[in-house]
Amino acid sequence: MKSIAVVGAGIVGICSAYFLKKSGFNVTLIDREDPGTMTSFGHACSFADYANVPVNYPGLIWDVPKMLLKKDGPLTVDFFYILKNLPWALSFLKNCKQEKVDEIASSLTNLLKHSHISYDEIFKEVNVQEYISHEENLYLFDTKKSLHDYEYANIIRKKNRVKVRNLSKEEVKELEPNIADVYYAGQLFTGSRHTTNPLAISIKIFDKFLELGGIYIKQNVTNLIQKENSIHLSLENKKINFDKIIICAGAWSNQIANMLGENFPLDTERGYHILFNTNEKLIKRPVAWSESGFYLIQIHNGVRAAGTVEIASINKKPNLKRIKMIERQSRKVLPQLGEIKSTWMGRRPTLPDSLPIIGASSKNKNIIYAFGHQHIGWTLGAITGKIVSTISNDKTPNINIEAYSPNRF
Ligand SMILES: Cc1cc2nc3c(=O)[nH]c(=O)nc-3n(C[C@H](O)[C@H](O)[C@H](O)COP(=O)(O)OP(=O)(O)OC[C@H]3O[C@@H](n4cnc5c(N)ncnc54)[C@H](O)[C@@H]3O)c2cc1C
Repeated sequence: MKSIAVVGAGIVGICSAYFLKKSGFNVTLIDREDPGTMTSFGHACSFADYANVPVNYPGLIWDVPKMLLKKDGPLTVDFFYILKNLPWALSFLKNCKQEKVDEIASSLTNLLKHSHISYDEIFKEVNVQEYISHEENLYLFDTKKSLHDYEYANIIRKKNRVKVRNLSKEEVKELEPNIADVYYAGQLFTGSRHTTNPLAISIKIFDKFLELGGIYIKQNVTNLIQKENSIHLSLENKKINFDKIIICAGAWSNQIANMLGENFPLDTERGYHILFNTNEKLIKRPVAWSESGFYLIQIHNGVRAAGTVEIASINKKPNLKRIKMIERQSRKVLPQLGEIKSTWMGRRPTLPDSLPIIGASSKNKNIIYAFGHQHIGWTLGAITGKIVSTISNDKTPNINIEAYSPNRF
């Protein structure tokens, strides 16, 4: 039985470890933290199968200054950091051309189409129904202008046959009567579902992996060396040889790729959440607020307000101004929110073309990369795990994965 190490126990690593174990590998999952507790813990809870519209879009370059000047806008930037990383920013902007955006949207749709069914394959064996809600996600437009500006996203969705339903203000009110009268209109993402407890789902899949005979090591990966037919992995206090290695360390993946002599243009879009106390159930479904770029979600222990984008160093301390902004806007949309229970910052792993890397290294087919899932890594965890397992078995996946090749940069 071949031995395989999976580095990173976020949702991508956990699902990869699960599918690899099912396909007969001897699997060791390694993380310096507890499984599922980093970026995969604090997100906006959506299985966003509809989210095929990349952050790159034509005209973004003109909108960025407006977004930055807007009080309580969705984006903030550390300019010194951007200046130091100008090539990444330029590469990101290059991917905003219409034809590139169309290509990216179609490649994202290709993966997203399989996301639901791949999770269901896991959920047949791992019972997580108590943590899943089928109340469809709602997007709220603050003004007529923001509804109008969103038209480009509707066109992309339509082209890729992603269904949405436009809602009048009255229709929104019927669905979610507790939301304050601050919005103009809404849109419903038809057929979408969400979780009320992401960590519980990660842990349930992880526990099944252990039950199937998988091994977990809680340690930092400090080095990797390629040997003739194996990969030598150094942890804090031991060294182990594996036949193959999967690198799915989210926003930290390039640090590990560097150990192997490879380099990818991976950066971080930082995002935040606040957990509010609530005495009663205030909303049924995730509610996105266009003015500030975050979702409000009723989860098992309160209402979580999660989202926004901050371009800054992976290691920089959380920006308290962003937390204040999310609090201010959350209370505007849902005035019944109670006191703050906790706050959190997470790091979305993002490549300049908003597509993940899923594939074998061109230098060594025993090294497989699976990272860079940006805003939709929770949604794409299971399908990524399935692809990783297929290519680890030297088989061809039943979807075309060329667009996610590690060699495309
Ligand atoms: C505010 C916010 C809202 C979001 N909302 C959604 C949403 O609604 N739907 C959706 O689909 N996606 C959402 N996302 C995106 C999603 O959360 C991420 O894309 C996803 O969690 C990434 O998963 P991952 O497994 O790649 O990374 P992670 O969960 O970050 O896991 C990577 C793991 O690698 C480990 N690691 C790193 N380096 C080492 C090392 N040297 N040694 C050992 N271990 C190491 C880390 O400890 C970590 O546990 C959101 C993100 C944010 C920030």
